[in-house]
Amino acid sequence: WLDFPETGGGLLTSGGSAANLGALLAAREWAGNPVNPVIYMSDQGHSSLDRAARIIGIPPENLRKIPSDESFRLDIDCLKKVLENDRAAGMDPLCICGNGGATNTGAIDPLEAMAAVAAQEQVWFHIDAAYGGFAVLAPREKEAFRGMEAADSVTLDPHKWFFQPYETGCLLLRDRRLLWECFHIMPEYLKDATPEEGEVNF
Ligand SMILES: *Cc1c(COP(=O)(O)O)cnc(C)c1O
Repeated sequence: WLDFPETGGGLLTSGGSAANLGALLAAREWAGNPVNPVIYMSDQGHSSLDRAARIIGIPPENLRKIPSDESFRLDIDCLKKVLENDRAAGMDPLCICGNGGATNTGAIDPLEAMAAVAAQEQVWFHIDAAYGGFAVLAPREKEAFRGMEAADSVTLDPHKWFFQPYETGCLLLRDRRLLWECFHIMPEYLKDATPEEGEVNF
């Protein structure tokens, strides 16, 4: 559905909040745990991203809320400028978060343009599509999600439009191995219970 390559994958989580948390951690790991990480999202970004940043020790002053336009979509020129300023100030741009349907308004950010900025700046591109992501299944709406295939991670919430029980969120990475590398710890007592390659170990 997301046009991810074969390497794509992830797991179900307790909700979109936990998926966003996992995405930010994977981003930080991928970036080599920089000292001054900065996260970018529009002023319509979901509060769980602010909370996830706090949980992993990224202070509120390292969050950039980029203004949105009259359709509540992120202003791409402003994103570029703010990111440039941060670079000049010696900060470490870490992750651009796009809305795949903002919760208050349904707005879908200019994902394709954001993906291009992320690629150029070598910054992680996360799409929080917890609320609206499944609209990608409607042929009429698919176009609006162009750029999603270039995301490094996507949050989806089957407990919303898929009417699954509460506590069914989902985190998908374009390269699922990164998730494993980020969270893998092998304690002594589990050494004889190594999961099969490709097995999702919740
Ligand atoms: C609902 C929502 C979340 C949080 O999801 P929970 O499943 O409630 O943890 C995150 N982002 C967006 C855009 C949402 O709509």
